[in-house]
Amino acid sequence: MATCRRYRCIECGVEGVVAGGQSALFAGPTMTYCCLRTNELVDVLTPYLTLPGDAEKFELSLKRRKLKPWSVGEPCPKCGGEIVNAPEDDGSFMEECAD
Ligand SMILES: [Zn+2]
Repeated sequence: MATCRRYRCIECGVEGVVAGGQSALFAGPTMTYCCLRTNELVDVLTPYLTLPGDAEKFELSLKRRKLKPWSVGEPCPKCGGEIVNAPEDDGSFMEECAD
C-alpha cells in the first residue's frame, strides 16, 4: 500500500494527499499529477506502455484532462510556486492512498 502525504502550493493553494511522484497501488503503477481544472494534486494510474503509440495516447489523454506531472521537490506545475508538506502534516500524519 502506498503512503501518501498532504502537499500544498504556498503560492496558489493547489493541494492534495498524494504519493508525490511515482508509486504503485494494487491496480498498477501511479504517478502524481497536478489537475489544472480542479487545482488538486492527484495520483493517476499509469498504463503499461507496451504498444507503439501507447505513450503518445497516454500523453494526449493527460493533456485532455489538464494533468501535469509533479514530483516532490519540483515547483508547482500551475504557477511555478513552491509545494511543501501542508502545515497540519506534522510527519505523523499519513494516509493510505484510496484506490
Ligand atoms: Zn501553485
